[in-house]
Amino acid sequence: MEENIKELREELLLPKKRAFETMTAADTIAVEAYAKGYMAYLDKAKTEREASKEALRLAADKGYVPYADGAPLTAGSKYTAVFGDKMTILIHIGKKPLSEGVNIVASHIDCPRLDLKPNPLYEDGGAAYFTPHYYGGIRKYQWLTIPLELRGVVCKANGEKVEVVFGEDEDDPVLCITDLLPHLAREQGTKPLNSAYTGESLNPIIGSTPYEGEGEDRVKLAVMSILSSRYGITVEDSRSAELSTVPAGKARSVGFDASLIGAYGQDDRVCAYASLAALFDQEEAPERTSVVILADKEEIGSEGLSGMKSAKFDHLLASLCSNDLGTYNSCLDHSFCLSCDVAAGYDPGFPEAFEKRNAAFLNGGVAICKYTGSGGKSGSNDANAETLGKLRGIFAEGNVAWQLCELGKVDVGGGGTVAKFMAERGIETIDAGTPVLSMHAPFEITSKFDCYHTYTASKAVFTL
Ligand code: MN
Ligand code: MN
Repeated sequence: MEENIKELREELLLPKKRAFETMTAADTIAVEAYAKGYMAYLDKAKTEREASKEALRLAADKGYVPYADGAPLTAGSKYTAVFGDKMTILIHIGKKPLSEGVNIVASHIDCPRLDLKPNPLYEDGGAAYFTPHYYGGIRKYQWLTIPLELRGVVCKANGEKVEVVFGEDEDDPVLCITDLLPHLAREQGTKPLNSAYTGESLNPIIGSTPYEGEGEDRVKLAVMSILSSRYGITVEDSRSAELSTVPAGKARSVGFDASLIGAYGQDDRVCAYASLAALFDQEEAPERTSVVILADKEEIGSEGLSGMKSAKFDHLLASLCSNDLGTYNSCLDHSFCLSCDVAAGYDPGFPEAFEKRNAAFLNGGVAICKYTGSGGKSGSNDANAETLGKLRGIFAEGNVAWQLCELGKVDVGGGGTVAKFMAERGIETIDAGTPVLSMHAPFEITSKFDCYHTYTASKAVFTL
């Protein structure tokens, strides 16, 4: 009787043992080696432009070349397409014709940050400051009193483009947003978290030494003279720029056992890197064409030229289908897309936000979200059960550790990703990604095991 119940339990209920606990020594080595490559990618890629550039550098090493209309589409051809140095697409042409569909892993490489405003420089109280406009959903208080770097591009009127990376080098100074001392914060402390800090209260201090001589704004002048000698730029040039302040410092292992990764920008570069690593593993042409999409602007709704709503992707796919409408439609009809974006990891510090039976846990593997959205699944791509079934099949085949989750309790908030924009194109799409703790914070936490299985999940999708 005892035996019977044990067997029945194993057959009918979910297995109790987590994949993480069945790891072999070889698995542990593979997970650590993968984490090393991923962390190196994070250190190079702190803006979407840098994430694109580094992806292209890695791709070039693997024989990928820029795609142009009419390029040969023979099995094994490897192409890249970049839109505005931001949205980046990699294509490995498969043995089957494009009319049979392609396998897509789509993630995003933009992250919450503090972009400088068009007129970003001012002087007050004897110091110079930048004034930023935050990008994406941030909890403002998290960005104060931490070291920040300046990264981005300045586009001069003569067409010259200057890349700015200030604060990465350990000998470089960093920038920092100051906060009120607790002694004087009695009133501020009574304000709700969401209103205690405004969009205008995130101004990093950037200098305090006045330029020698007489007159106004000499600290500002001194700061500009440093930027001018290092980058050859003026305040006028900074008006046509994309400069962002991002957290300074490198990705680090976290925990005494070093099982976790702490870093800025893991949402969603963790999935971007996973899809790249899976693509670069392909020694020969896949059966169906593999496509990796590294989208921009996901954090502000996938808008604009380089976001997933942009027709740039459609134009590229049409071009790959030789602009033949029949082939193009058939390609969309038969394609599959893993919308690879991070999940909210269960945080025992905030149990009130999660429904434990439907939450993603650290070391539970890649987390599949059948739907995201908010309230009654509003704004969500609610993937078909058939799609989930198919995913289970390829994940089992590829030894992918996975779990199912929702984005937290039903009515506490919500969110979305690129999934629905792919589904709207007529592509079968489902969402899955790495569970993250402190999502959108300057230092986000993932588990190395889950990062690794985001990569095995991408590999599995490329076998469809
Ligand atoms: Mn994301
Ligand atoms: Mn996000």
